[in-house]
Amino acid sequence: MARQCSNCKRGFMTSVSRSHSHIATKRRQNVNLQMRRVDGEKVLVCAACIKATKKVKKTAVKATK
Ligand SMILES: [Zn+2]
Repeated sequence: MARQCSNCKRGFMTSVSRSHSHIATKRRQNVNLQMRRVDGEKVLVCAACIKATKKVKKTAVKATK
C-alpha cells in the first residue's frame, strides 16, 4: 500500500535539494499523514483533509444553533 491519503489520494511529491555548489539531489516531500479511526478501522488521512472535515463539523453545529 502506498503512503497516500485515503480521502483525497494525495501522495508524495518530488523536489530538489540544492547544495552550496548548486548540485541538485532529488528528494521526497511527503504529505502530512495522520492515523485516524473511521468506522472502527484505522486509515491514513492527510492533515488538510482532517482540517477540512473539522471545518464542516463546526459550520454544521453553528447552523443547528
Ligand atoms: Zn487528504
